[in-house]
Amino acid sequence: MKELEDRIRAEGKALNEDVLRVDMFLNHQVDCRLMDRIGDEFARLFQEDGITRVVTIEASGIAPAAMTALKMNVPLVILKKSASVTLNSSVLQTEVYSFTKQNTYQLTLKGEYIRPGDRVLLIDDFLANGEAAFGASRLIEKAGATVAGIGAVICKAFQPGLEKLRNAGYKVEALAEITAMGEGFVRFAGEN
Ligand code: 5GP
Repeated sequence: MKELEDRIRAEGKALNEDVLRVDMFLNHQVDCRLMDRIGDEFARLFQEDGITRVVTIEASGIAPAAMTALKMNVPLVILKKSASVTLNSSVLQTEVYSFTKQNTYQLTLKGEYIRPGDRVLLIDDFLANGEAAFGASRLIEKAGATVAGIGAVICKAFQPGLEKLRNAGYKVEALAEITAMGEGFVRFAGEN
């Protein structure tokens, strides 16, 4: 998605070879018009996949996932990073390692919000090592549903998540695919 690549190039900050900051438009301050077009793009890419629910992980995935769910006219389900007392019954959990926080958390879903037979589109802001996407997929599958697609706003394709997920048989689409980055530069797929 050219508009997204241009924004990353203009405003994104590669902290080092591994971590990109995009909190000025994606995951702290949010450009809702850009999110609107991101929703259109995911809806187009997964329009043939019979999606019945969009699922994301709190908190950074919520903005793009909400727009996608709106465009696809299906409910949005937000997986929690901890079980609160209000989620006391029938919760499904799996442990996930966080790339940015360098700790583990219990990804949590109240079973009733994903049903057997659902075809789920999983949306997140970043795909890096794939820990979050594999964890979310485990929960969705524990609930008896199918992961019909995975959409990342930004994929760091030089990290192993994209290849691992595709090798596991998932359909994965990224709106901006970064092949290399470092202080002061970001290179996208298709560029030299
Ligand atoms: P993974 O589980 O694929 O290693 O990492 C995915 C999660 O880590 C995403 O949900 C995202 O919040 C966070 N993440 C991974 N890489 C980056 C990055 O370069 N920048 C930011 N801001 N978040 C990242």
